[in-house]
Amino acid sequence: MPHVIRIHNIQLLLGLGMTAHAKLGASKAHRWITCPGSIAAEATLPDTSSAAAEEGTAAHALAELCLRNGWAPEKFLGKDVEGTVVDEEMAGAIAVYVDYVNSLRGDKLIEERVSFSAYAPGGFGTADALVFHEGMLEVVDLKYGKGVRVDADQNAQLMLYAVGAFTEHGFDFQVDTVRMTIVQPRLDHIDSFEMRVKDLLFWADKVVRPAAKLALSDNAPFKPSEDACRFCKAKAQCKALAEHNLSVAQLSFDDLGPEPLELPEPHLLNAAQVSDLLPHLDGLVNWASAVKEHAMSVLSAGGIVPGFKLVPGRALRRWGDEQEAEERLGDLLGDEAFVTKLVSPSQAEKLLGRKRAGEISDLITKPQGKPQLAPEADPRPAIGASAFDDLNED
Ligand code: SF4
Repeated sequence: MPHVIRIHNIQLLLGLGMTAHAKLGASKAHRWITCPGSIAAEATLPDTSSAAAEEGTAAHALAELCLRNGWAPEKFLGKDVEGTVVDEEMAGAIAVYVDYVNSLRGDKLIEERVSFSAYAPGGFGTADALVFHEGMLEVVDLKYGKGVRVDADQNAQLMLYAVGAFTEHGFDFQVDTVRMTIVQPRLDHIDSFEMRVKDLLFWADKVVRPAAKLALSDNAPFKPSEDACRFCKAKAQCKALAEHNLSVAQLSFDDLGPEPLELPEPHLLNAAQVSDLLPHLDGLVNWASAVKEHAMSVLSAGGIVPGFKLVPGRALRRWGDEQEAEERLGDLLGDEAFVTKLVSPSQAEKLLGRKRAGEISDLITKPQGKPQLAPEADPRPAIGASAFDDLNED
């Protein structure tokens, strides 16, 4: 079988100025499979964009251009791609993804639209890269964001791409196993998950099909969860999520972990009770911020939120005319008017460019980061109490 690279740009194929979205899209599958009501809830709200989303679109366009033409991402440094100027960070990150896809042997389809409507009516998505080789289909997905690490294990988006790709091409390539890989270069994260095709299709039949049916029904149920709600457009206004979070906030101590046999400080939470509270806190904080942002946007647009108004926030003093301040302070203070600071390792690498960055690698060290709380299932090893003391001393 010849090694081919075919590029199907869905926007060009459809003659659209923007990416087409399926109602039951793969990228939101983790949400509608868990919370079928989210389809109806999000449909009532306008699409919003963010700087991060625009950067992601540009990063994907750059990756596609490079894979299509065999170009290196550095070629686009300083150039505008989809409204974003490509900088060192983007070029470096996309090089990691492009190198990964180029390292795979087999027949490749890039930015390929795949349909899984046999299981979810009208469901389709666009897979970043599909690679067929010796009975194996590998679905590769680029995640340009660095806010939340995304794992490949049981990832519904990639599994649906695999279902669609197998349905359309699997028999031609005698695929019996699928590997799903996430490349998230800005977090140094490449993660793969493999499963047999028969297990994938069993999941599509027993999980996706009933969830899709519920999602398209008139009384689709709502099921809040941290994963489903985190990026849901409806989270600031969703009653189910508000009720869920308020019930969590009203947990009584009877619902929390056991009281210790001895109660040296009965008015304080014990470790088991703190442990029971922790899994709820990120969801509560995230939801509280979303509700506040929503209220601000209603008021900014001239709407009413009873009992609330917008007022000016605290502002820091600054120079009215920087050039004039520079001249007068230079006269008054001489060199003391200016602060000179060494650039950071990232800034130095950016200034030197990717090719010369190696010249300073011996100057750079990476100390252990500040301790973070993580659930026991997190793959990173725990740091011991003595290491914790050292870090605090530092
Ligand atoms: S916020 Fe959560 S519960 Fe509400 S619709 Fe979205 S995913 Fe469902």
